[in-house]
Amino acid sequence: MTTQEQTQASARDRSSYQPALEKLAHRFGERFSANRTVREQHANITSWHPVKVPDGVVFPESTEEVSEIVRICVEHRVPIIPFGVGSSLEAGVNATFGGVSIDMGRMSNVLAIHEDDMDCVVQAGVTRKQLNAHLRSQGLFFPIDPGADASIGGMASTRASGTNAVRYGTMKDNVLALTVVMPDGSIRKTGTRARKSAAGYDITRLFIGAEGTLGVITELTVKLYGIPQSIAAAVCPFPDLEAACNAVITTIRYGIPIARIELLDEAQVRACNLHSKLTLPEVPTLFLEFHGTEVGVKEQSDTVAEIANDWGGGPFEWASQPEDRTRLWQARHDVYWACLELRPGAKYLATDVCVPISRLAECMVETKADIEATGLVAAIVGHVGDGNFHVSIMAEPEDPEEMARVKGFLDRLNLRAIGMDGTCTGEHGIGEGKQAFLIRELGDTVETMRAIKAALDPQNIMNPGKVFTMPTA
Ligand SMILES: Cc1cc2nc3c(=O)[nH]c(=O)nc-3n(C[C@H](O)[C@H](O)[C@H](O)COP(=O)(O)OP(=O)(O)OC[C@H]3O[C@@H](n4cnc5c(N)ncnc54)[C@H](O)[C@@H]3O)c2cc1C
Repeated sequence: MTTQEQTQASARDRSSYQPALEKLAHRFGERFSANRTVREQHANITSWHPVKVPDGVVFPESTEEVSEIVRICVEHRVPIIPFGVGSSLEAGVNATFGGVSIDMGRMSNVLAIHEDDMDCVVQAGVTRKQLNAHLRSQGLFFPIDPGADASIGGMASTRASGTNAVRYGTMKDNVLALTVVMPDGSIRKTGTRARKSAAGYDITRLFIGAEGTLGVITELTVKLYGIPQSIAAAVCPFPDLEAACNAVITTIRYGIPIARIELLDEAQVRACNLHSKLTLPEVPTLFLEFHGTEVGVKEQSDTVAEIANDWGGGPFEWASQPEDRTRLWQARHDVYWACLELRPGAKYLATDVCVPISRLAECMVETKADIEATGLVAAIVGHVGDGNFHVSIMAEPEDPEEMARVKGFLDRLNLRAIGMDGTCTGEHGIGEGKQAFLIRELGDTVETMRAIKAALDPQNIMNPGKVFTMPTA
């Protein structure tokens, strides 16, 4: 056992996990692994939060198998960490107290598509790109797009959104029903395919954003949309962040059904130019996309171009060919790798906050000034139509002085957003990283969350140590 593992084990005796690991190895054969490399691949790899590896990884193929795994783990009080593709950014898949990672990757079937009702039923391990490849021939698509090719189960569990949320909503708006394996191994269905329901407590929504702390989602029924007849994308430069934010606020106030409206600050544009070989002017820039009929798209884009012009922005540069559009959005989605080019060798940390849109300009401008005053290498990119933005910080985690500055900056950023009646996370979730801010944001309401957790998972085996801590480890 490494020192890191010994430290984690102090809260729970990991040697007591051995009988469960042996049972899982016996039952699942090559679909169970205790190999160090495989275990490391199932801990946090997307951020600089310390890596905490599980003791074993198991690869189920059905809801019933997940139920069997949970029953074995409950019997020996072994923590369970559900795993989608591990792209979450607040160390949600870390094995805080060791335990068994349940990798949902082999549960990647699309079980049913109901074209007339525009919904489908999928296993939780299917990724959004796999699902959309499956749907394309039917003229349908699933819009939620967090950049990474995340699993639909992981996206539901982090209440993910992304570039399209301004038009299509977040995971909370697009999941109709779930099949969940509960912390005692029982299997529950939380809803139906009806588009709305007033039938009792909204258990579906309880699991959306629960980050695996209440159960393992094994199947989801999600809404689908028709692929728009016409799609147009453009970029639009602005003299400063405030002008760009104000153009966004006006666009949203006009009720224009814009599909994507993303703001990149000049550092982020510089990173994209370097990484994706673009030649954009290095100033705050909006990336926009319009969906609809040809007439509708023209009307929307003309109006937004006028709004941009009123705020000193423009001209629009159109990506009219599908391949130009793909290149543009690929550059937007690749901001993670692009940022690494701003400071080669440094480590990357992404954080996100979300504020009411009327406070967006103020929050972004103050944050930008804070980055400069703190002397950090950082870039801002935002799903600004929702008032949500990310700060990507490139730093050296081994340098205590720099890390103190980063920590101070993160504290101020989160408290600034909360102080504006916003949230410490619009989409990345709490994981291990943002627990202190959750308490600052919701206060005693976290006690209500703890009460729900204690009622459903009295042994605290479902992803313990995430979102909040429980009185007993
Ligand atoms: C480059 C990059 C860009 C990103 N951009 C965005 C963005 O724009 N918007 C956004 O929302 N996110 C973004 N993310 C974060 C990430 O993609 C999302 O958080 C995503 O929803 C995680 O899905 P996943 O399959 O990787 O889940 P994982 O990381 O595997 O798991 C996330 C959490 O959910 C739990 N979990 C996973 N599967 C299940 C299940 N079946 N049942 C119960 N619990 C489960 C895990 O235990 C963990 O707590 C980005 C990440 C990267 C690397």
